[in-house]
Amino acid sequence: MDQHADQTVRALRGPSVDHPAPYGIPGLIRSAGERAPDAVACTGAGETWTYRRLEEVSDRLAAELLRRALPEDRPVAVLADRGPHMVAALLGVLKAGLPYLPLATDESAERLALILDTARPDLVVGTTGALAGWQGPDGVALLDVEPLSAGPDATYVPGPLRPVTADQPVNIIFTSGSTGTPKGVVVPSGGVTNRLLWGQRHYGLTAEDRVLQKTPYTFDVSGWEIYWPLIVGARLVLLAPGEHADPAAIMQTVTEHQVTVCHFVPSMLDEFLRWPGAADCTGLRHVFCSGEALPATLARTCVKTLPARLHNLYGPTEASIEVTYWDSPEDPSLIDDVPIGRAVDNCTMLVLDGQGLPVAEGETGELCIGGVPLALGYLGRPDLTERVFVPAPEGSGLERVYRTGDLVRVVDGQIRYHGRIDEQVKIRGVRVEPGEVESVLREHPGVDECAVVVAGERAPRLVAFVRPHGADPTGDPDGADRQEEYRAHVAARLPSAYVPTHFVTLDTMPLTRSGKQDRVLLRQRAAELLAPRADGPAAAEGDPLALLWAEVLGLDSVDEDADFLALGGHSLAAVRLRGELLRSYGLRITLAELLRERITLAGLRRRTAAAAAGEATAAGPAG
Ligand code: AMP
Repeated sequence: MDQHADQTVRALRGPSVDHPAPYGIPGLIRSAGERAPDAVACTGAGETWTYRRLEEVSDRLAAELLRRALPEDRPVAVLADRGPHMVAALLGVLKAGLPYLPLATDESAERLALILDTARPDLVVGTTGALAGWQGPDGVALLDVEPLSAGPDATYVPGPLRPVTADQPVNIIFTSGSTGTPKGVVVPSGGVTNRLLWGQRHYGLTAEDRVLQKTPYTFDVSGWEIYWPLIVGARLVLLAPGEHADPAAIMQTVTEHQVTVCHFVPSMLDEFLRWPGAADCTGLRHVFCSGEALPATLARTCVKTLPARLHNLYGPTEASIEVTYWDSPEDPSLIDDVPIGRAVDNCTMLVLDGQGLPVAEGETGELCIGGVPLALGYLGRPDLTERVFVPAPEGSGLERVYRTGDLVRVVDGQIRYHGRIDEQVKIRGVRVEPGEVESVLREHPGVDECAVVVAGERAPRLVAFVRPHGADPTGDPDGADRQEEYRAHVAARLPSAYVPTHFVTLDTMPLTRSGKQDRVLLRQRAAELLAPRADGPAAAEGDPLALLWAEVLGLDSVDEDADFLALGGHSLAAVRLRGELLRSYGLRITLAELLRERITLAGLRRRTAAAAAGEATAAGPAG
């Protein structure tokens, strides 16, 4: 084999390494805890727990779950705010030999019902505060983990661990479903332990490391954030609930707790690095990115700003968190593009054409993943499972592969990402199927037909086109009220990343010759809508506040009286605006104010003027 072909094979086939975990994640954590039972395992929510305490509380929960003899083929739901009790809840469920189903504490009642209907847990384990807000269906028992943590028991002896097989489900992670129903990926224990033990083999964390846990546990990355430190006797630092999109809070936690390892989706890393003081996070050793493409400019900024090594990881939920990696050079001038790199241990990548056959070397094709990390399928959806978990091509040495829908090419021994085959998109790191948004929007009584498309290269956005039923009863020629109604309808039912930034009402839906929605045309129209216009924000030249407003919101025109939310403002836009307002105008404004109050550009002008006047007054006569 020539050197070139050899490089390609190495990119595509991860090393075969034995990563035994006969007692699964609980067994790995127990071994680490036994080496230093009094070391701090986790800290957050005002509590600091040793390994001994984490073991004890999770053992108590496991014993309680076993006493209840729950059916083994159903997950135990977890509804918890971030903190040591959340960790004990997850670990306790695993110790009882059951998979957990993490539920978002801010999930809408509708979406929660769809998820519970599919997964059918009998029991929800949670923290006191999260369970108090429970709005799930009747008939599901609730168990508060907090009373189980009362006082150490002098007679405590660690409970027995149960053997875990590699294909035993560890958790069910729901992601967006194109047909309108979220789909639950059944993740195998062997996949997650393979990811953890590969990471440890490759990056070698030590007991001195402190890993930040900021990703909500409904996303797969939380899997390594939580368990990786715990299997090596390191410290898990839990960010306060609700702070994962707040760079100032992240920065404070990172510096206060001397965090050494941290994960960001690239769009959040961008916000973090823009925040004044990011460079003060000098204790960081490793910054991991995954979830969406990492732009080279951002990678360079990160390497220049922080002393940490930067890594770009790639992987779908369907392949146990991440399956490829690229470690950035330390010299930023050497970063001219960012590949997704090479396969991790026990994992094989195939690049296939439309017929399911391997493409020629260097050609673009669909990335298909095989090996240990492969998920077991989608819960209760054999049809969907069969469609994307397909038999591997002959001679590949694999049984099944997962068709990712991602386009890639192998160049110079590195896998490079080239976008999606379908319409799935990452909005601020969150995986969204426009079809799910359409199906929710279609339920609005005023909507006759709709299409949701993606536009915007750098920061993708969703644009909804709606053909309403009949004429607008309000007589509003632009349908502005309706747009507000559609937005509210979607926002009440779906996570915020799923809410389109623009709603456009149409008299007729453009169709192709074969009578289908002309999505190419709609995408074009959406792109035009988002593109800067000659009379757009540039017309606000000399008006830095208007320019800032337009840039943060990605607007093509400036309206003084339209509010932040109605203009499609979201949490990351709010974070950016808040940072810039503080930096350039000395104006302190909270994220809650930006996201909940109807703040307009005109209102901001008044506040910045008041802040400037306040500063002048504070400076006093001497100033
Ligand atoms: P999720 O299941 O939420 O982890 O989303 C998986 C999808 O996110 C992949 O199929 C890719 O489309 C995208 N993705 C994840 N990591 C990366 C990355 N490092 N670069 C580009 N796209 C990524």
